[in-house]
Amino acid sequence: MVEANNRHSGEFELIHWIQKQVGSCDQLPVGIGDDCAIDQLPPDQLLLTSKDLLIEDIHFKRAWTSMFDLGRKSVAVNLSDIAAMGGKPRALYLGLGRSKQLKEADLKDFIRGFIYEAKQYDVILAGGDTCGSPGPLIVSVTVQGQVPTGKAVTRRGAVCGDALYVSGTLGDSALALQLLQSGLNLPPHLAQRFQTPSARVALGCFLSENELVTAMLDVSDGLLADLNHLLVASGVGAELALSALPLSEDFRSALNQDPTLIDLALAGGEDYELLFTSARHDLVQSAIPAPGAVKIGTITAGAGLIIRQENGDSYQCRQRGFDHFAAS
Ligand code: ADP
Ligand code: MG
Repeated sequence: MVEANNRHSGEFELIHWIQKQVGSCDQLPVGIGDDCAIDQLPPDQLLLTSKDLLIEDIHFKRAWTSMFDLGRKSVAVNLSDIAAMGGKPRALYLGLGRSKQLKEADLKDFIRGFIYEAKQYDVILAGGDTCGSPGPLIVSVTVQGQVPTGKAVTRRGAVCGDALYVSGTLGDSALALQLLQSGLNLPPHLAQRFQTPSARVALGCFLSENELVTAMLDVSDGLLADLNHLLVASGVGAELALSALPLSEDFRSALNQDPTLIDLALAGGEDYELLFTSARHDLVQSAIPAPGAVKIGTITAGAGLIIRQENGDSYQCRQRGFDHFAAS
C-alpha cells in the first residue's frame, strides 16, 4: 500500500524504456519483463553474488558527478567485487529509490551510463525494482557472476612468506575527492579514476584461472583497511614497503608539493584495485593483464602490519580507512 503510493505513474513506461535500452538478452533465458529473471549457470561453475548500496550525499554528490558517470560507477564498483573473487560477471539487478527532485531526463542519463558500462564488460541488466524515495536518491545494485568450481579466491588463503601485490595505482580517487572538496578542477586522469573507475575483471580472472594467488580482495575502503581484512581472515601479518606503493604521475606531483599525501595512498578509498597474495615472488608486471601489479610487501607470521620506510624505520599512517564523506 505504501509502495503503491510511492510509485510514479510513469514507472511502467520507464521500465519498458529500460528494457528497450538493454536490448536483446541472449545471455539469459528471461531478463527484464517478468516477475523474475531466469539464469542458467554453465556446468561446473559456482554462482557469486554481491550487493552495493549508493546513497546520495553519502556515497556520491550530484554536484561532483554527472548522472551518466554515476550510472557507470554504480556498475564498476559492483563488478569489482566479482573481480576480487576471480570471477566473471553475468548479470546486474538495479534497485532505484527515486528522489522527488530527480528529473526523468537525469534518471535516464543514469540508466544510459549504467547500461553503457555493463556492456563494456558483457554483462546484462537483468532486472530490478523502481520506487519513489521521500529522501535522497538510492541506488542498490546486485551483481551475479560465475567462477569455475575450486577457482574462487577468498580473503582467507594468505600464508607466511607470500608476496603481497596490488594492481594499478593507489590514492588517485581519494586525491580527486580532496581536490573536489577544495573546489578545484580535476586533471583528466584523476577525474577518470574518481568518476568512472574500472573493475579489474580481466586481471582477477587471469589470476584465479592460473591459480597464481592465495588470497585476494578489492581495495574499496583504502589499502590499510582492506589489507587488514585480508590479514585477519588469513590469520597472518604483513610488512609493507612504503616506497613500493604504485602511484600515478598526477599523484606523484601532488605528493612532491605535500609529502603527507602519502597517507591518501595508504588509507584513501575507492581505488577499486586488486590486492592479492601469491607464493610467486616473480609475478612481474609484464606477465599479467592490464593494469599490471607490483609487489608492495610480504606476508609474515603472527598478526599485525608494519609499514617500512626506505631507511628501515617503521611508518605510522595518520589517516584512518575511508569513511565516505565522514572523513572530510
Ligand atoms: P513486480 O511488481 O512483479 O516486482 P515490477 O513492475 O517491479 O514487477 O518490474 C517489472 C519488471 O521490470 C521486472 O522484470 C523487474 O525486474 C524489471 N525492473 C523494474 N525496475 C527495474 C530497474 N530499475 N532496472 C531494471 N529492471 C527493472
Ligand atoms: Mg517490483
